[in-house]
Amino acid sequence: MITFLHQLESNCSLAVAPGAIAIMRDLTYLVASILFILGIKRLASPRTARAGNGLAALGMLLAIIATLAGAGSSALIWAFSAMGLGAIVGVFLAVRVQMTQMPQMVALFNGFGGIASAIVAAAEWIKITSFEGPRDQSALALVGIASLIGCATLTGSIVAAGKLHGSISGKPIPIPAGLFVNIALVAVAVALIVALPVTGGALWALILVILIASALGVTLTIPIGGADMPVMVSLLNSYSGLAASAAGFLIFNKALIVAGAIVGASGLILTAIMCKAMNRSLANVLFAGVGTADSSGTAGTTAEDRIVKRADPDDVAIMLEASQRVIIAPGYGLAVAQAQHAVRELADALTKRGVNVAYAIHPVAGRMPGHMNVLLAEADVPYDELLDLDQANPEFDRTDAVLVIGANDVVNPAARTDTASPIYGMPILDVDKARTVFVLKRSLGAGYAGVQNELFFADNTLMVFGDAKKTITAITAALAEL
Ligand code: NDP
Repeated sequence: MITFLHQLESNCSLAVAPGAIAIMRDLTYLVASILFILGIKRLASPRTARAGNGLAALGMLLAIIATLAGAGSSALIWAFSAMGLGAIVGVFLAVRVQMTQMPQMVALFNGFGGIASAIVAAAEWIKITSFEGPRDQSALALVGIASLIGCATLTGSIVAAGKLHGSISGKPIPIPAGLFVNIALVAVAVALIVALPVTGGALWALILVILIASALGVTLTIPIGGADMPVMVSLLNSYSGLAASAAGFLIFNKALIVAGAIVGASGLILTAIMCKAMNRSLANVLFAGVGTADSSGTAGTTAEDRIVKRADPDDVAIMLEASQRVIIAPGYGLAVAQAQHAVRELADALTKRGVNVAYAIHPVAGRMPGHMNVLLAEADVPYDELLDLDQANPEFDRTDAVLVIGANDVVNPAARTDTASPIYGMPILDVDKARTVFVLKRSLGAGYAGVQNELFFADNTLMVFGDAKKTITAITAALAEL
């Protein structure tokens, strides 16, 4: 297609060619934008998500081709070298990164999006300021905006990825007078963005914007603790889109403007969904610094001294076989144990014995939006067996047994009852209302929010200690013996 556009350019008369190229480019951008939108729409269901991803990727390919059409050979060499390098790094990461590291990977990708936009802004700054005549003032302001959002997204995403990875404490790390500091940083950054066009693009103003934005990313993200990270990750996703859109306006690239706006808007919608899932306002998440302990699951050690009822896989198999209705409530531990295929096998074995099996999916279970859906889809769990929070909760009091597999915060009744708890108010899966609850995990340790879970000590709860995959495989084996 690039060759075709080149040929078109050289074959046409000089007066017509640029217009024809521009029209073809715009039409291709339009098709690409439609593909982005159709792709996002298809991502709404696991059944169509793979095709949706393909459509969006095709849209991006068309947008790249249209952008490169008409470019000189040295620009093409630079572009293909950068794409080749990016592709090598991308394939390497995709192959090497384990499924449990995907959340921090996704967080980092947001950061890469942010820094890419900031680099585009810096390149435009060089172009604008090397021009001898009057400089484009609105473009200089856009340079500032793209640098601000892009750099804040980068450093914020690095902190978020560090927190998800466990290399930075999952605890909220409060900044003294944090709200004041953030407002002051934003105010100074806005003043500098105004200074950029006024000074004709002074280098010091750009450097200060970059430094302040980088600090702002850290000060906004570091106080966010444990349970609130889903909101921050989706917000950073939205920022990366806004940065791309600003860069698109800067270089007059319509596809980049549209793609950035779609990412920005969908990130904001996701942020609203996550806030609703946690029953928190965005302001409360950003400024309250909620969450108390490390993500290591070692908090609440006093739990080890309390008495719990225990069951082994044979007991669980007997109870499950005698049940009519079983609900599986998965959480982050399912991802750690990579137990999704084992769960599916157990569910199949139960279904064959006439037991009705469903899955209850909490919107913030796991470490990234849709984490449980992705895992279960990988194991070909039928989509219609997945119940969301609102569908699942009315079911529990008519359920014989619930298998809580590596879930903790999302089934913690403290969210309903303990006003002092950092997760108070978060809607949870009401698994404790079922007749019997089996909790499959390795210890009595806390979840990501660092809050001890009273569910483990409830009369109708039986703890089944061990790695979830091993335990589930043992339950399925015991079931086969019955
Ligand atoms: P939690 O993090 O609350 O708990 C996971 C549990 O899994 C741990 O308590 C751990 O207990 C257990 N576990 C770990 N490994 C295994 C294993 N191999 N076998 C069995 N169990 C295991 O998970 P939830 O899904 O309940 O809650 C998610 C939390 O993460 C929420 O606080 C949410 O806000 C937060 N979060 C969510 C994001 C999202 O977008 N979904 C993003 C960022 C944070 P033990 O060590 O005893 O085995």
